[in-house]
Amino acid sequence: MSYNKKNVTQVDVKGKKVLLRCDFNVPQDKATGAITDDKRIRAALPTIQYLLDNGAAVIACSHLGKPKGEWKESLTLAPVAVRLSELLGKPVTFCKDIIGEDAHAKAAAVKPGEIILLENLRFDKREEKNDPEFAKELADMADLYVSDAFGTVHRAHASTAGVAAYLPAVSGFLIGKELDIMGKALEDPARPFVAILGGAKVSDKIAVIENLLTKVDKIIIGGGMAYTFAKAQGYEVGKSLLEADKVDFAKEMIERAKANGVEFLLPVDTVVGKEFAADTEAKTVAIDAIPADWMGLDIGEKTIALYENAIAGAGTVVWNGPMGVFEFDRFAEGTRAVARAVAASGAVSIVGGGDSAAAVEQLGFADKITHISTGGGASLEFLEGKQLPGVVCLQDA
Ligand code: ADP
Ligand code: MG
Repeated sequence: MSYNKKNVTQVDVKGKKVLLRCDFNVPQDKATGAITDDKRIRAALPTIQYLLDNGAAVIACSHLGKPKGEWKESLTLAPVAVRLSELLGKPVTFCKDIIGEDAHAKAAAVKPGEIILLENLRFDKREEKNDPEFAKELADMADLYVSDAFGTVHRAHASTAGVAAYLPAVSGFLIGKELDIMGKALEDPARPFVAILGGAKVSDKIAVIENLLTKVDKIIIGGGMAYTFAKAQGYEVGKSLLEADKVDFAKEMIERAKANGVEFLLPVDTVVGKEFAADTEAKTVAIDAIPADWMGLDIGEKTIALYENAIAGAGTVVWNGPMGVFEFDRFAEGTRAVARAVAASGAVSIVGGGDSAAAVEQLGFADKITHISTGGGASLEFLEGKQLPGVVCLQDA
């Protein structure tokens, strides 16, 4: 997959009607429907502002939640239009439908420098089915398609990929940045290139491990998946997370790393707890001495020192998956120490994955990371080296 895609700054937008796919999938209060975090709306502002400032008429669209093709009042984008209007300091005209009469009339009337927002795309089941007629109707309202919803580029839906069959398609600033930074890391990284992989399960990360093994100089393993690797090394892991059916895969990865000349670092000690709980009794033991009725919930001090050393001097760091159960303060130290080491390394650093991004933010290192990928599932598929329909459909630069 080429990462070198045309950006909105490389085309003429003046006087054009632009169909802009945003990610306005914001969290809402269950009872009141109020938007509880408007980060995603704020993240969309640079592309919107650029289009408005440069004489485009913007037809914004997004999905919200999982209405599954049904009209659901609780998932209307109307509150997003209100919030977006406040943030932009100008009116945002909300359409009561997606490709219906109201949307068509408002899309026909929207002028350069103005913005309208269509209703929740997923109210129509044809969106997720990537129905060509639905895509064409969306496309017919505009002259240009700008894609800026990175969180959905791994989905082949009408608004994320289908419309590109009918309109010239380019990236907005958010997707542009993801492609620049993550694409460069995977294609032409500053070395040494270090991958840090953790999180819950090996099975979630198989394709990520396999892809990165062909690209990096070092792989650092932590989190719940480390215990399947410990088992592969012949150690008992007590009550730790273990995927017995992935032990052979873990062995194979250790072998493949050796064959590829990739340094493969595994924990030498671990913080164990009695129960999976914030206030459980905890102690540090060597990786080959996990007691039968305890579970590994974080990497230990010696492992931290080893990993800090491996991260120092890195040129590029890609990090997916926390080193331990960071949600419990007692088991957050491994993730904190690794975040500190990444921040101090001076490397181009990329954090991908929903919980990893949350961990880095919660622990206070977000502003010291070069790029925190905004798409959970999408950034994982990116690291897997997969073809992403929402990227493939964009024009090459
Ligand atoms: P991401 O969303 O960044 O891809 P994952 O979903 O794979 O990351 O994993 C995150 C989860 O892994 C966190 O909720 C964390 O508590 C859990 N985790 C980390 N270490 C362990 C461990 N040793 N045992 C059980 N769960 C763990
Ligand atoms: Mg997760």
